[in-house]
Amino acid sequence: LAQHFLQRIAASDLNAFLHVDPALTLQQAAAADVRLANGDATALTGIPIAHKDIFVTKNLRSTAGSRMLENYVSPFDATVVTKLAEAGMVTLGKLNCDEFAMGSANENSYFGAVKNPWDKTAVPGGSSGGSAAAIAARLTPAASGTDTGGSIRQPAAFCGVTGIKPTYSSVSRYGMIAFASSLDQGGPIAQTAEDCGLLLNAMVGFDEKDSTSLDRKPEDFNRDLNKSIQGLRIGVPKEFFGEGLAPDVEQAVRAALAEYEKLGATLVDISLPKTELSIPVYYVIAPAEASSNLSRFDGVRYGHRAADYKDLNDMYKKSRTEGFGEEVKRRILVGAYVLSHGYYDAYYLQAQKIRRLIAQDFAAAFEKCDVIMGPVAPTVAWDLGSKSDDPVANYLADIFTLSTSLAGLPGMSIPCGFGQGDKNAKRPVGLQLIGNYFDEARLLNVAHQYQ
Ligand code: GLN
Repeated sequence: LAQHFLQRIAASDLNAFLHVDPALTLQQAAAADVRLANGDATALTGIPIAHKDIFVTKNLRSTAGSRMLENYVSPFDATVVTKLAEAGMVTLGKLNCDEFAMGSANENSYFGAVKNPWDKTAVPGGSSGGSAAAIAARLTPAASGTDTGGSIRQPAAFCGVTGIKPTYSSVSRYGMIAFASSLDQGGPIAQTAEDCGLLLNAMVGFDEKDSTSLDRKPEDFNRDLNKSIQGLRIGVPKEFFGEGLAPDVEQAVRAALAEYEKLGATLVDISLPKTELSIPVYYVIAPAEASSNLSRFDGVRYGHRAADYKDLNDMYKKSRTEGFGEEVKRRILVGAYVLSHGYYDAYYLQAQKIRRLIAQDFAAAFEKCDVIMGPVAPTVAWDLGSKSDDPVANYLADIFTLSTSLAGLPGMSIPCGFGQGDKNAKRPVGLQLIGNYFDEARLLNVAHQYQ
């Protein structure tokens, strides 16, 4: 298996992988063989996986898609990496992503954009674009991703694969290079809900090294896969079907909802009135947290250091100027501004209040339904380069994924057909499933019944 995928990776031109070390991979594969022979294998032993380059690894570089960390090798493995290795998974390498996971198209990577395997002139989505593209192109059967405001769900949708962001605090953030700590959440991307469930089983768990990690009883996320969904109440938020939703995406999503009705579910009209506000709220809170998290990259402790400088301040300034890309700088500036004296109350505090109201909207909706469904993104994948100079256009495309993240709820994306985009192209559409807190097993069940 490892050899098969290494060959496919070597032959691929998608720019999905940033670092591969075949010798290391084959060594892990040999160790997995021994485990299998000894009869102490798990369901994942010997199965290859690739990690988003935001998870730090001891034996491979961890760049977070940034020049700042171009040559960074961590002294330890992220908890997610450790857990999957302990289950016997074999690491194929590290996957391209937007710089520090900031982006919706994987065009913000210092190492270049990733191509969408369905149509190489299209973006793969972001920020886990390398992960989703690699799954779609069958360069790996499993990948890790992170989702701060949609970065697992949206690239999964754009590449026609399956991804789940579990409830905030389920997967340890230890060794996941921080973007916005109150939102960042790791999760799997794979072909199917069943595969995602197997991966989640190994990824989720309490970690004393993550201060927000929750200590819950371990569960089998795949326990309900084959349960009937007769009588399931699916909430359909009217705000997810308004102006701005492309007709091809709406058509595919409505067809999937009709399929669910055939499977015995009922559709319930619901409202998530603060949906529109999730964009300004997220783009205040996420940059605020990023500006603080990214202050550690000072050219002293680790990361890029400028070659010539006059004094310490000049060294900080030049190192950060050279090390960070445009979008990262934009977020640091916005974040520092909304946290500054005089603006904190007007922006940051207001955003936090609306964040609470967004969570309350979901709580009210879940009194009427068991899961919520809608599109993952308003359009199919756009053309490479077509929005790369327009950050706001990228932000607006996050409209349907941000609120789930702000509320800390689990969200999932499953493929539900194809749209045309604005050309005669075949580009995947994703159906979004949103569950109540810790209802991942139900999301996987509902997804599996459709798949
Ligand atoms: N597109 C969003 C952003 O740019 C979300 C990214 C993410 O989930 N990491 O911040």
